[in-house]
Amino acid sequence: MSAPTLNSFRTGPDETGHFGLFGGRFVAETLMPLILELEAAYEAAKVDPGFASDMASYLAHYVGRPSPLYFAERLTEHCGGAKIYLKRDELNHTGAHKVNNVLGQILLARRMGKTRIIAETGAGQHGVATATLCARFGLQCIVYMGAVDVERQKPNVFRMKMLGAEVVPVQSGSKTLKDAMNEALRDWVTNVENTFYCIGTVAGPHPYPAMVRDFQCVIGREAREQMLEREGRLPNSLIAAIGGGSNAIGLFHPFLDDPGIEIYGVEAAGHGLSSGLHAASLTGGRPGVLHGNRTYLLMNDDGQITDAHSISAGLDYPGIGPEHSWLHDVGRVNYISATDEEALNAFQMMSRLEGIIPALEPAHAIAKAVEIAAKKPKDHLMIVNLCGRGDKDIFTVAEHLGGME
Ligand SMILES: *Cc1c(COP(=O)(O)O)cnc(C)c1O
Repeated sequence: MSAPTLNSFRTGPDETGHFGLFGGRFVAETLMPLILELEAAYEAAKVDPGFASDMASYLAHYVGRPSPLYFAERLTEHCGGAKIYLKRDELNHTGAHKVNNVLGQILLARRMGKTRIIAETGAGQHGVATATLCARFGLQCIVYMGAVDVERQKPNVFRMKMLGAEVVPVQSGSKTLKDAMNEALRDWVTNVENTFYCIGTVAGPHPYPAMVRDFQCVIGREAREQMLEREGRLPNSLIAAIGGGSNAIGLFHPFLDDPGIEIYGVEAAGHGLSSGLHAASLTGGRPGVLHGNRTYLLMNDDGQITDAHSISAGLDYPGIGPEHSWLHDVGRVNYISATDEEALNAFQMMSRLEGIIPALEPAHAIAKAVEIAAKKPKDHLMIVNLCGRGDKDIFTVAEHLGGME
């Protein structure tokens, strides 16, 4: 492979779905026709103005976009450095950024004439977003979920059922997200005719990582325009939390070619990187193949995928999107991590200073944003992606801090 010419960080993936050494299409031969059909349908939708105008209309009237770019004045004062702006994607319908992507995939499924939608979910957020749009468009919805997660995430299981979805508990392996993803892939091969597989992050075989990124880029495009309008210039830094990496790449991608903008992706360090109990695939893992693509993964010495740990169920994934692995290796994005405890502190700080209860996932980004902002001058403009609201996490936080009794 020839060395990439880095005059742009935004051109990937190549025609085989690779971002440098990462990504690709590691799937069973029986899946290939489905993947090629999906790729062709997506390529056609991308250049169809009708698809774009449908997206724009539902994003405005159903999801509630654009989400505000909000100057966090008291958080800024507290840090005493950079001016911190929050991209308020927690205000979207269903409470997080996931709906941006699911809307795109469901509109694509409709174009392809698919009537049965399958998805996998860990914390249940992607399952809820998928069940929501399936209800809206009258599509059958089946959500695979590890049996352990079904038990841990009861409110979201109930939501999905209310929305008319069937939730299938997966009993194999560690009974968590990676097993649910394997089961969904199996379903897809068996039900080729009518089924569309809706993936929740920038992972899976090509074209999913690029397609999901494209749907999430609405976050960064809006943030760019909003910052220019508010401050008359681009931001100096961007920060987002990383599970699989979809909210982060959605914010980052439209800014990747602007030199000088510092970009930080924050992984979950759980009990600390040295404890082994974390979800930091880039800072604590190594390259391997999982769920159809090559990327950094958490694995043991024998190459077995190990379980991720994070207080935040949405960051609890043993891999990361292949584009992030590439951006890490070429050095365009800085990948750092925050522990459970740091996230809990940031969760409380944001609630008290700004009157916004964040999800535990973006609380990881907030924890690092506060540290970095304190070291920057007052004219430094920072955007933190507030990708989800904290309603779903109050029981988890109460369990750690007390206060529900
Ligand atoms: C699912 C989820 C995440 C993690 O997924 P990414 O693909 O990394 O964005 C982060 N935050 C929230 C609120 C989520 O629901």
